[in-house]
Amino acid sequence: MRRAVCPGSFDPVTLGHLDIIGRASALYDEVVVAVGMNASKNRMFSFEERTDMLREATAQYGNVVVDSFDGLIVDFCKARDVQVIVKGLRAISDFDYELQMAQMNHGLAGVETMFMTTNPLYSFLSSSLVKEVATYGGDISGLVPEAAGRRLAARFAAS
Ligand code: ADP
Repeated sequence: MRRAVCPGSFDPVTLGHLDIIGRASALYDEVVVAVGMNASKNRMFSFEERTDMLREATAQYGNVVVDSFDGLIVDFCKARDVQVIVKGLRAISDFDYELQMAQMNHGLAGVETMFMTTNPLYSFLSSSLVKEVATYGGDISGLVPEAAGRRLAARFAAS
């Protein structure tokens, strides 16, 4: 079975993420969306919330599963028999870091990385920008799937 992983923090999932996940699901037998549990980053949503939003947003794809990883993504790949990491590239600013990671992951474990160019509709979109817009009451309805929009609205209605 050809299995790919889309790793990330997904804090929260955006339509940019979902576009890459959906396109990957058309290319591979199974796509595992791996949510990083790494606690070092400042998160708005808990691991459970990020996972729930992703499960709801990807329910439309029969071959997408949501899982978690802690530590090296290549160890996750080995444990889950995943051959390929799929990443979205938004702009040249993504490239340097993604190139380093792809080369490191190949060097460490022979795991390949496939880059998919972002849908131009979402090339400006990041989770951090969505959080910033939502913080100041901006309209994020065209930026995130419904599941994430609801959570963001609830978070800011409560604060
Ligand atoms: P991280 O916390 O590792 O930076 P994110 O959860 O923000 O990860 O994003 C995970 C991955 O999703 C990124 O590495 C990138 O490959 C992809 N991605 C994020 N936003 C977009 C977008 N707007 N268009 C295409 N790909 C994206």
